[in-house]
Amino acid sequence: MFADVATVSTTDHSDEALQIQMKPYEYKLLPKLAETGSFCVLEGKYELESFIKGARTFTLADGMRFKLSFTNTGDIVLIRGNIDAEVHTECDRCLEPSKLQIIGEVEGYAVFDEASAGNDLENDEYLVAKGPDGCVDLAPFLYAALIFALPLVVLCDEGCAGICPLCGVNRNEEICSCSLDTIDEDHPFAALKDLF
Ligand SMILES: [Zn+2]
Ligand SMILES: [Zn+2]
Repeated sequence: MFADVATVSTTDHSDEALQIQMKPYEYKLLPKLAETGSFCVLEGKYELESFIKGARTFTLADGMRFKLSFTNTGDIVLIRGNIDAEVHTECDRCLEPSKLQIIGEVEGYAVFDEASAGNDLENDEYLVAKGPDGCVDLAPFLYAALIFALPLVVLCDEGCAGICPLCGVNRNEEICSCSLDTIDEDHPFAALKDLF
């Protein structure tokens, strides 16, 4: 009966280690979302300074802003919305500081009573409201949206010329005299010359 409900995984979909100090962000669903059809919107900012994914550190300029809507559909409370954050890390090609604007989507849901939720709800893709206020912690959904929206490759600029594999200069700033054409075919970087 919940087959049509979109969910979001709260775990990263790659095998890379993710290190985050996950501070809770609690929100009370009750009493405003008690009735079927009730709806509300929450706008705010989640304070997060940095996190590590794989070998890379991401630093947030000013936390993560979000806007979420909550709808009581009768069985569940649908949670949808978006997040955005300015994130700083380094360029994959030239290793210089690089700024990213991350925009991600939140799609998940919460239940008031896990026991009555049935077997269709699995793992940690939903939140369980606790106590008389129906309190949920939104942090896992916010993180999932952020992590999911991160690019696989970070470039300071689409046209970043990167670092010279021979002398190591940043070729965005300096033109070196290395000629990749003179690389011996047995040189470990020989295959790279076809890329330039
Ligand atoms: Zn670069
Ligand atoms: Zn060079």
